Amino acid sequence: MPRRRSGTDTNGLIAGLLRDLAAVQSSRQSRWGYARAAEAIANLPGPIESFVQADGTLRKIANVGPSSTRVIMEVLQTGASPTVERAIEESGKARDVEKSRGLRDTFLSRAEVLAAFRNRKLKGVSLDEYRGDLQMHSTYSDGSQTLSDIIETGMARGYEYCAVTDHSYGLPIARGVSMNDLAIQHQELDRLNRKFDGRFRVIKGIEANVLADGTVDMTPEERRSLELVVAAPHSGLRSSGDQTSRMLAAVRTPGVHILGHPRGRKYGVRPGVSADWDRVFEAAARQRVAIELDGDPRRQDIDHRLAARALEAGCIFACDSDAHAPDEWEFAETAVAHARLGGIPGERIINCWPLEFLLEWAAKRRG
Ligand SMILES: [Zn+2]
Repeated sequence: MPRRRSGTDTNGLIAGLLRDLAAVQSSRQSRWGYARAAEAIANLPGPIESFVQADGTLRKIANVGPSSTRVIMEVLQTGASPTVERAIEESGKARDVEKSRGLRDTFLSRAEVLAAFRNRKLKGVSLDEYRGDLQMHSTYSDGSQTLSDIIETGMARGYEYCAVTDHSYGLPIARGVSMNDLAIQHQELDRLNRKFDGRFRVIKGIEANVLADGTVDMTPEERRSLELVVAAPHSGLRSSGDQTSRMLAAVRTPGVHILGHPRGRKYGVRPGVSADWDRVFEAAARQRVAIELDGDPRRQDIDHRLAARALEAGCIFACDSDAHAPDEWEFAETAVAHARLGGIPGERIINCWPLEFLLEWAAKRRG
């Protein structure tokens, strides 16, 4: 049986190689097949080495076909995949693949997320300190979960609260919610919060846009009608120019509570915003704006390395799923794993605060 080389995330390595293989396929069918296999490996609960049976073959893994299995066995035996490298070379897309490979740093596979929780040497937050998720989307914008689904899922996960943060009207591509619909959402939430009083509380939030110049969309009055404002960049995420002033302006905007997925990076696709993050963190710490760790596996933004620097700057943090559907709530665990790896204690994470304390801080930021 192959031994797990310490320090390497073999699942992450294999998932990356299968992504590469997907990227160089000419048929849609095989692109889809390898991408699906990549996702299956990235989501395995344990290291791939533990799926090798006594006879040396691989245990059946859903969505992983014979040609993906061949790649996996090559990596387990040699640490690399000649099959994938050959396919890349023959495709003439080596430069694109190289670029994509450079955009996968500090992404955790599901197995690594779970390993971080088991690792008792880590000093950071543990999962049982987590009380509620503060970034998610409903059917009012681009989510597929209703407000009732949200309460049901939150209670089933043992949470005390969560925030619904649909996209603001400034992001029509994500079906940003109009102020009119937002008022209807708030009526519905008032009714649900009365019904679940003492058991579960949904916080009225929004995910507003950090525009190119750092202003946050929605008027100050509109933002004040919300209990929690996540401000996040959704544009200018491929430019390599310095955007420190944009991010500084965002965290200094009155009424902003959380700087959401601060970089806007995407796994293998784009690096997101470049900025002098230490300066941004310093300003956020002074304003008591929380820096978000977005746990969407494709985002993981910010990651544990950057989070450790934000901790040093004195920041508070939000660990959120960015869920658009009930089965995405576990993304919050990826965010908490990064916080744990970054050494962030629960008292610095607003999702670990008691509800009254959280609402008090939010009201203070609202001014
Ligand atoms: Zn967003």
